[in-house]
Amino acid sequence: MKKYILTALTAFIALMPAMAVTEMTYGAQGTAFALHTLPAAKAVKLRIYADGTGGKPLKTVAMQRKDTTAVWQATVKGDLKGRFYTFDVKYGKKYLGETPGINARAVGVNGRRAAVIDLADTDPVGWRQDRRPGIKARDLVVYELHHRDFSIDSTGGFRHPGKFLALTEPRALQHLRRLGVNAVHLLPSFDYASVDESRATPQYNWGYDPLNYNVPEGSYSTDAADPLARIREFKQMVQALHSAGIAVVLDVVYNHTFNIDGSNFQLTCPDLFYRRTADGNYSNGSGCGNETASEREAVRRFIVESVRYWAQEYHIDGFRFDLMGVHDMTTMREVRRALTSEDPAIFIYGEGWSAGGCALPADQLATKDHVWQMPGVAAFSDEMRDGLRGPWSDDAQGAFLAGIPGHEESVKMGLAGAIDHPQLNYGKVNYSRRPWALQPTQMMSYVSCHDDMCLVDRLHASVPGIDRDDLISLHLLAHTAVLTSQGVPFLLSGEEMLRTKLGVHNSYNSPDSVNRLDWDNLERYPQVMAYLSALTALRARHPALHLGDANLVKDYMEFLPDQPCLVAFHLRAGAPGESWGDIYVALNANAEPRTITVPDGTYTVVCRRTACCEQGIATVTGPSVTVPARSALIIHN
Ligand code: CA
Repeated sequence: MKKYILTALTAFIALMPAMAVTEMTYGAQGTAFALHTLPAAKAVKLRIYADGTGGKPLKTVAMQRKDTTAVWQATVKGDLKGRFYTFDVKYGKKYLGETPGINARAVGVNGRRAAVIDLADTDPVGWRQDRRPGIKARDLVVYELHHRDFSIDSTGGFRHPGKFLALTEPRALQHLRRLGVNAVHLLPSFDYASVDESRATPQYNWGYDPLNYNVPEGSYSTDAADPLARIREFKQMVQALHSAGIAVVLDVVYNHTFNIDGSNFQLTCPDLFYRRTADGNYSNGSGCGNETASEREAVRRFIVESVRYWAQEYHIDGFRFDLMGVHDMTTMREVRRALTSEDPAIFIYGEGWSAGGCALPADQLATKDHVWQMPGVAAFSDEMRDGLRGPWSDDAQGAFLAGIPGHEESVKMGLAGAIDHPQLNYGKVNYSRRPWALQPTQMMSYVSCHDDMCLVDRLHASVPGIDRDDLISLHLLAHTAVLTSQGVPFLLSGEEMLRTKLGVHNSYNSPDSVNRLDWDNLERYPQVMAYLSALTALRARHPALHLGDANLVKDYMEFLPDQPCLVAFHLRAGAPGESWGDIYVALNANAEPRTITVPDGTYTVVCRRTACCEQGIATVTGPSVTVPARSALIIHN
């Protein structure tokens, strides 16, 4: 019995890498290779190639097992810079096939072979001086973009359409600055599988199909075959955004891989990275055919070391975890701890749900209802999103914005940042029966993202017969809710130019004609950009609108009495740093004007219908103040 326990324990410890193995360490005299396998591996072949694809190996080396561990090593003499390599691991009598490893930091075209590079060669001029803008969570305004959506259309006039480098161009930086966002959330920008990097023809995918987690995607570089280009250009992008005071958030997808058979995980450590159900099948909490097993020490360490690498090597400012609810809470806390040790300002948020049942007990999962157990980790509020636009399951069904009563409490929850505000009645909130955030900065405030219809399309689908003027005023009303929330505002790129995706609900592989931003819309609908820019500026200058602390929100934010399809709140005078007195925000989704009651006196109107200006656009007097139809109103004294 004792012997059995000892054997099992030894096997278990051997499964756990002490730390992520650096698989390639370049040296001008020789390059060191290492691969961590399962203890059962029988042999590992290292192959060196001249190119990233095709051709015969220049050299094949039998790697040696280091002592009794599961780490295999080889050193190849000479200067291998510019060469490519793969590993091939033998289990039983079979070699499983070539893989660039699980920790490749540079790859050739389509990510099939890893590349021997010196990372120092990828640093753009001035990279050492690059600094994170260090924006506090309470001050963030996040802008979610896909490289191709943003810059592919000729109306944008970009020199590098669809590439990382587009975000270094003045047009992009000036636009983001003017809009007043201070963080860009980049849809998957690590190496993913669904776009053939060797073809120049237009291809589109969101990229939620990970191949090499620690390498930028090749199709967004100017030369996918040059392993240095994608890394250098990614850094140039980060550097340019940082110079403009904009943080860079990576969308990370550790919850599943592109496939199982042939994945780098499976070719290196079979079955270690994936969960199985009780009947032995692969569990599918990701909705993509597999889910990773973050609760296993080796997998958890892989995730933690991967985000740490992006933070260190690429100076990343934040991470958005795809289907965070597939991961376990311990992993998310470890991620938080690791990133805090790099820089406490690094921001973490995720989707607090999964896309199917997970093969891990629900009480361990990093779901939205567990956010309060993960300080420093935020989640999206689908309560607010669907309270405003209608349920995710039915595009034609509207909610608050469509003038349908009963969604006020869900909107209010979003405005308060999902905290335990004394005036909120969670019994009336659509999806959550209790507050889930300890701090308002743990809630992402949004009405649209890359998933589902964009807001214009949703309004067309859910408010039949809506005319252009009402569409614009409802669009701005929705974004006023998002931008006056005590949570962290999150905007889908293109909402500032009244973007349409032509009614497509899931545009993950739709052509550019569906996903592109039409930059001419800035001239067609200038009031939208003008309003949102003014509103972000107003938010930035008024701390009462983003208090950043649950106790302050409870102290200073007070909801006015409920009315159907009208939500209003008062930010009491005296919030720390606030120059205005009392502030009232009213959101009226009714097709008719409504009134709110405020104390007697004169108030400056800073936001009404399609106009927003911090200096004021009119004055009104209490106690009865009119809120126009389908409009937001912000007043202060
Ligand atoms: Ca790729």
